[in-house]
Amino acid sequence: MTAGPHFLPYGRHLIDDDDVAAVTAVLRGGALTTGPAIPAFEAALAAATGARHAVACGNGTEALHLAVVGLGLGPGDWVVVPAVTFVATANAVRLAGAEVVFADVAADTGLITAETAAAAAARADGPVRAVLPVHLAGQFGDLPALAELAGARGWTVIEDACHAVGSRYDLGAGVAGAVGDGRWAAATAFSFHPVKTIAMGEGGAVTTNDPALARRLTRLRSHGVTRDAGEFLEPGQAFAANGRSHPWYYEMVELGFNYRVSDLQCALGLSQLAKLESFAARRRMLVEQYTTLLAPLAPRVRPLAGTPGVTAAWHLQVVLIDFEALGTSRDAVMAALHAAGIGSQVHYLPVPWQPYYRRRYPLASLPGAARYYARTLSLPLHPGMTGNDVGRVVAALGAALPA
Ligand SMILES: *Cc1c(COP(=O)(O)O)cnc(C)c1O
Repeated sequence: MTAGPHFLPYGRHLIDDDDVAAVTAVLRGGALTTGPAIPAFEAALAAATGARHAVACGNGTEALHLAVVGLGLGPGDWVVVPAVTFVATANAVRLAGAEVVFADVAADTGLITAETAAAAAARADGPVRAVLPVHLAGQFGDLPALAELAGARGWTVIEDACHAVGSRYDLGAGVAGAVGDGRWAAATAFSFHPVKTIAMGEGGAVTTNDPALARRLTRLRSHGVTRDAGEFLEPGQAFAANGRSHPWYYEMVELGFNYRVSDLQCALGLSQLAKLESFAARRRMLVEQYTTLLAPLAPRVRPLAGTPGVTAAWHLQVVLIDFEALGTSRDAVMAALHAAGIGSQVHYLPVPWQPYYRRRYPLASLPGAARYYARTLSLPLHPGMTGNDVGRVVAALGAALPA
């Protein structure tokens, strides 16, 4: 069997009739972009995460880039980025003209720790100004320790939560909330690419509790332009004799982007966001089924362990398999899964090993990242899956591994 109608991809969106109706209503209504669906989506995302502000944009990469630029990072600044993440995390730093120093990750979680972040900072060739933790697979990274380190060093924290919309933590003593609530970071970036937990086609957002940052991100999203008379810098050309700003007038107060998102995308995002809790619950249920069914394959196959106090909206079902010790290869296992109609993926080749980053920075020894990468495999996980699908994947995986 090859990729056909019954092929089970590793990730996929789930669209219902009400999503279709929401998008259709925008198509039949007035604004296709810069209309009311955008602030409506932003308000709903702020409510879902517990942040005071959300600024929506075209994708998760734009969200990261907006956050990096909006927080004033640029040439001469160094930013600590996990070695195991999607390339966009590091690219956002480079697009802002700042430099990346890659931190090692824990071999069994793929997450940076305060220790690996501090060790990375010691390798930077200039002043470290920020750290960009990634909530890999929907896990909640050790943000309390990272935020404490950042506070002590004067670093800004920007969370890459592209995998973790809907993940929650309860660390006791009332320290509870959702990823993106602004407790640990100046800004949090999300992606709503269809493979992520909720789908907008393409879409992203930054959440923050800082109203001035939210205003700046909104301005940067649209060319650095403002129509707010309170922000105008050139009163001589802005205001008519009666003291009012000219009706056509706007000012470009800094260099920005066109990182806007359309009403079509935000209508879909709003409709999908209403299902975030049920999607997250469904993902957790599937992960529980995987955990139960994979138990007999231990110790050859080990799913990522959850963290106490964290209710993850799992984005990926990661399993760690020591392919080499088992006398097989990941390629062979992926090929066997594919032949059984099952998609799988690797998240991720360490970013410092990408040719662009190899050219730019000397390779550091990152044993945790190397060990995580060597063993990681993402199995299918999405809300449209059934318990039967999980059983089929686990059976195929068991058959693909040497006994
Ligand atoms: C998907 C992803 C991004 C980028 O999001 P896009 O919407 O695809 O631009 C950034 N970081 C991580 C960890 C991601 O998984």
